Amino acid sequence: MQTNKDVPLAADELEVLIIGAGFGGLGAAIKLKQAGIHRFLVIERAQDVGGTWRDNQYPGAACDIPSKLYSYSFAPNPLWSRIYSGSKEILAYIHHVVQTYKLEPVLRFGQEVSGMTFDEAAGLWTVSTQAGATFKARSVIMATGGLANPNTPRINGIGSFAGKVIHSARWDHDYDFTGKRVGVIGTGASAVQIVPELVKRAGFVKVFQRTPAWVLPRANFAIPAWGQKIYGKSNGAYGAARGALYWLHEVMALALVWHSPLTHLVENRASAHLKRQVKEPWLRRQLTPNFRVGCKRVLISNAYYPALQKPNCKLLTWPIDRIVPGGLRTVEGVEHQLDCLVLATGFDAPKNSTPFPITGLNGRVLADEWKQGAQAYKSMTVSGYPNVFFILGPNSGPGHNSALFYIEQQIGYAVQGIQARLKSGCKFLDVRPEIQKAHNQELQARLSKTNWQSGCKSWYLTDEGFNATMFPGFATQYAKQLKQFNAQHYSSR
Ligand code: NAP
Repeated sequence: MQTNKDVPLAADELEVLIIGAGFGGLGAAIKLKQAGIHRFLVIERAQDVGGTWRDNQYPGAACDIPSKLYSYSFAPNPLWSRIYSGSKEILAYIHHVVQTYKLEPVLRFGQEVSGMTFDEAAGLWTVSTQAGATFKARSVIMATGGLANPNTPRINGIGSFAGKVIHSARWDHDYDFTGKRVGVIGTGASAVQIVPELVKRAGFVKVFQRTPAWVLPRANFAIPAWGQKIYGKSNGAYGAARGALYWLHEVMALALVWHSPLTHLVENRASAHLKRQVKEPWLRRQLTPNFRVGCKRVLISNAYYPALQKPNCKLLTWPIDRIVPGGLRTVEGVEHQLDCLVLATGFDAPKNSTPFPITGLNGRVLADEWKQGAQAYKSMTVSGYPNVFFILGPNSGPGHNSALFYIEQQIGYAVQGIQARLKSGCKFLDVRPEIQKAHNQELQARLSKTNWQSGCKSWYLTDEGFNATMFPGFATQYAKQLKQFNAQHYSSR
């Protein structure tokens, strides 16, 4: 429906531009097509789809959410080979989805966005890329990913290292680790997967730990052929398995999001895992966390503790003083000679910045407004930046359930918002500032009661301790708030 207010799009203008071709962007493309909205493109800075699963191909890379749950609900894959699939298999699934839904024609690669600006009179976003292209679109779906840009740690002398430096999210598959002296910085979700693989090949591996994490055992068995057959034949069996996994993870919120008796149960389970796998008291002490489980990301691994105890592996807990050309010096003065430094140091999650300048109504710049911490309405829209929908935006992170479930809710909300604008015929919808403010006041009050705010330092928080990343509730609650796009919460022009 088109009303007088609507300014028709010119031939080269899009209804929607999706930025990013990972799970979020591709899912949005599928749902736009299914909603009958065909005038859109997906732009991607790399040369392939896949987002974090394209980038994180380090040895041992896998997802710690079961695959039946960490996949689109509308694109079941009965052939998942294991409970927790590896990164290669997840990337193959993404490619399969792209083919199945015939997305190739709408994909544009090599388009790294340099900035986007809103033209109020035309009701259009202009998105420029470093490749020199310009896209004009009524709406933008920001699917740039929360964990897209590697974090290079600010350690003195990091640029002076003469050996090889590899970040976990930018693996160099041509580098031969055989016999090499390797230092691994970081002991998070990436490191616990990399270290067991590195010890198989390297001469020795020194793991530099700043903070020990809670580690739970991982029940990762292969799905037998007969099981895959059943899932292939019966949507009911697949759906039941996915549903069971969903509710199992929902219950985990009681332990990981809030402090409850279940929190202690999970801590006891992790402590028992440590006790069973590490017999040496000194090492066990070094690996015992001093913060509440759930405060930082809980890790799952059966292979990490055994790997640390291999003759060619050593855990080092002295703080790092500086990197030197020949290796790394710890504060007690020991210099560790290294051929290769593996940075398993995580990502620059966009907690108080944007991946590129976003200029909204009256020249306001989103990064300036987010300096103290990113905020949005229901993680999806930001006042002053009309017709922009964020996938995995502020406070949308799950600590206990599948990010894919959250992404699907966000896509549904974005498509509804775009449809609402089309239906009303207005040029743009802009969330009301008072609605956004009230939402965030309530959200922060709820966050203050969660385990994430219980005193540890994590990538969920800004340096000042503001939580701009996590959603303080069950996935079911998150889905409920995004079920219905409420146009009354938006002003239209
Ligand atoms: P991370 O959880 O942020 O861990 C980074 C590690 O590097 C931490 O141990 C951190 O120590 C250490 N570090 C950072 N800067 C340092 C410095 N200057 N000096 C010494 N140590 C430093 O990163 P990640 O392991 O890549 O995981 C990030 C997120 O990606 C996870 O939380 C998860 O959401 C996702 N992920 C998931 C999987 C999976 O599904 N299996 C796998 C990988 C990643 P501190 O703890 O002291 O800060």
